[in-house]
Amino acid sequence: MNSKNKKIVLTGDRPTGRLHLGHYIGSLKRRVELQNSGEFDEINILIADDQALTDNYDNPEKIRKNIINIVLDYLSVGINPEKVNICIQSCLPALHSLTFYYMNLVTTARLSRNPTVKAEIQMRGFANEGLPAGFFAYPVSQAADITAFNANIIPVGEDQLPMIEQTREIVEKFNKIYGETLVMPVAVIPKNESQRRLPGVDGKAKMSKSLGNCIYLSDDYETVKNQVNGKMFTDPMHLKISDPGHTENNIVFAYLDAFCTDEYFAEYLPEYSNLEEMKEHYRRGGLGDGVCKKFLIKILEEILSPIRAERKKWESDINTIYDILAHGNSKARKITDETLEKVKNAMQINYFNNLY
Ligand code: ATP
Ligand code: MG
Repeated sequence: MNSKNKKIVLTGDRPTGRLHLGHYIGSLKRRVELQNSGEFDEINILIADDQALTDNYDNPEKIRKNIINIVLDYLSVGINPEKVNICIQSCLPALHSLTFYYMNLVTTARLSRNPTVKAEIQMRGFANEGLPAGFFAYPVSQAADITAFNANIIPVGEDQLPMIEQTREIVEKFNKIYGETLVMPVAVIPKNESQRRLPGVDGKAKMSKSLGNCIYLSDDYETVKNQVNGKMFTDPMHLKISDPGHTENNIVFAYLDAFCTDEYFAEYLPEYSNLEEMKEHYRRGGLGDGVCKKFLIKILEEILSPIRAERKKWESDINTIYDILAHGNSKARKITDETLEKVKNAMQINYFNNLY
């Protein structure tokens, strides 16, 4: 089968910390569903260490240590390395060459308009300190990652939509100038708003490793409970239980929107049959924040306890993790080298092919 007719998935994560609930609901859960559906020809997960170094170049130890942490997180949520190829960006030199060629197809003005990069520049203080060129251009390297794997299905959170848009523009321009070579990708994002961009426990727009407002998949029960009880705000006008409350801009309800299904009511809060009924009660007055938080903690515990248990098993078998990565890298190297060769042929950077 030609790679253009195949269903190929690529996703990735920056090894800047352990993975959190935002990753789980925005991307990891979907990856496991895709893996188990058996409908896809290839599923690849790229650990984007080179990208992570663009804003952590002065702390390589952090990136190095988190590669293993991230693989532990993948395995604990149910990613099966026999069905999914897990590989490391820096081990795939074709990605660097592709990035270099694609840089020509993007203007600096276009890169400056990327809303996610703009927000990240502010957040990381680069607006004052000076912006590393590598960080500014990382959307181009993401285009290299996606196209190198011939990926057409990219399951991501909402913050990644501008990157996929940028990739689509690069693919279109490349194919127009050099002839039909690259595969056009499509982003797949969760349906529900809270799942597309899970807020931090502090209410900031996005749970993010770099903001330190996370519930990590490996956090223990006490930590999760303290984060929900101590950090999550509800409605500041909902002072007495009998007061009417707001469910919008209420972090506890944003998390319930993301994680609660009807089955949890039957199990833990049978007075309601679904989240809408519970929300109506809160809006009317008479439902306390303590009950809502307790319910959320139970749901999170039900999701996290099997993940934690699985992680424990893999933590005692780190050698196998290195084997998984070595195997993933060698498979990915073959795929990405082939794409680079196609790209170089299309760009006529194949000087020695016609000599004999
Ligand atoms: P960093 O702060 O280092 O950028 P991050 O927490 O944003 O880390 P990434 O590794 O950049 O995590 O993101 C990996 C994937 O997880 C992407 O597809 C991204 O869209 C998704 N993701 C990250 N945070 C969230 C979130 N809060 N809600 C939904 N999806 C998310
Ligand atoms: Mg990010």
